[in-house]
Amino acid sequence: MQGSVVRVTLSLIGPGIIGVFGLAFLAAWSYDRRPYLGVLAAACALFALGASSQILYVPRDTGLNAMVSGALYTCAVIAAVEGVLIRSGRAFGVWIDVAIFAAFSLALYYFFYVDRSLLARIYVQNFGYGLLLCVAALRLSRLRSGRLVDRILFWTLLLFGLHFFPRTVFTVGVSAPSGGPLGFADSVFWQTLQLSIAVLGAALAMAILAAAVSDVMDDLRRERDLDHLTGLLNRRGFEAEIAAPMRRAPEGAALILCDVDHFKSINDSFGHDVGDVVLKQIGAILRRTARKHDLVGRLGGEEFAVFLPDASLTDATDCAERLRKTIAQGRIPDLGDRLVTASFGVATLREAGDWTALYKMADSRLYRAKAEGRDRTVHRGA
Ligand code: GH3
Ligand code: MG
Ligand code: MG
Repeated sequence: MQGSVVRVTLSLIGPGIIGVFGLAFLAAWSYDRRPYLGVLAAACALFALGASSQILYVPRDTGLNAMVSGALYTCAVIAAVEGVLIRSGRAFGVWIDVAIFAAFSLALYYFFYVDRSLLARIYVQNFGYGLLLCVAALRLSRLRSGRLVDRILFWTLLLFGLHFFPRTVFTVGVSAPSGGPLGFADSVFWQTLQLSIAVLGAALAMAILAAAVSDVMDDLRRERDLDHLTGLLNRRGFEAEIAAPMRRAPEGAALILCDVDHFKSINDSFGHDVGDVVLKQIGAILRRTARKHDLVGRLGGEEFAVFLPDASLTDATDCAERLRKTIAQGRIPDLGDRLVTASFGVATLREAGDWTALYKMADSRLYRAKAEGRDRTVHRGA
């Protein structure tokens, strides 16, 4: 095989790797339709196209090639940056993207057609892209204190952006590679650029894919742990969420159980849909009335629970009474004059010892509240 063919083939490995990541983003996007995955797939494709245009020397006019490949690279970097920013809801927006694109294109045009300088074009592109990536990393600086995948993504993005500066200075210095296209392809600058894009670009793509996977898992976990009707935690989510505060404050925790009174007759008289409205309303009251660090859940049917991580029996009983009165005073337009009330059972971890006993104790007190006439709170007894 001719040396030039081998050289061209080797040069295509870097863009090929990024192209494969593009396919991975495309596959992830087709599965999940998160816009940022589509934008990142486009970024990889644009980069692979830009590199192919440069390596295969298409179009064959030097100026046109510099402009076309430059435009593709610029679009790729803008798309990569926007993709990562969209994920965190911090995108620059289309007008800033257009302005960035215009600035790069004008600079490349100027340094080819007006004051031709390969050195200036190399610096404009490398320092410019590096700066863009660093600015994006800084816009995402709050990821530094996020989950491990977010922290890895932040540092990979910042490192990728920063590396453009020393790499360019050390491999180019003050004179551009000479010897025409062949000399350029053989230059330390071009070879190092290819290597760094293949390694750091791939690392960034992997970090983003890992973050995307964790986004999907978070959403699935949320779906699994939330009650769709009220938006509160379901039984599974509630039990999972209370595990940590139970460990931290085993002595101070309290549980309030709440069951809507005669709910079946509301369903029977007004229909299941109105019953759902009532459940939503009660869920909203519980969430609004509970304190920020209390956990509120719908454990099933018309039974709700509030977990207070640091409350005495008196505090929790006061809280239950507040909830009870708010529910009893609330009016639901669909029900006309019909009032809705609920009964409450309260127990503390100090009395019960563990979660199973705590739930049982609160439940049996709730049962007594029902037996004693409903619309009341019971906090004593077995
Ligand atoms: P009590 O005062 O003794 O608690 O009587 P109740 O009628 O509230 O209790 P019961 O357990 O007899 O009835 C609960 C009803 O809640 C029966 C069930 O059809 C209804 N229900 C359970 N889940 C839902 C739901 O998601 N939406 C609606 N609309 N009704 C539900
Ligand atoms: Mg009931
Ligand atoms: Mg019930």
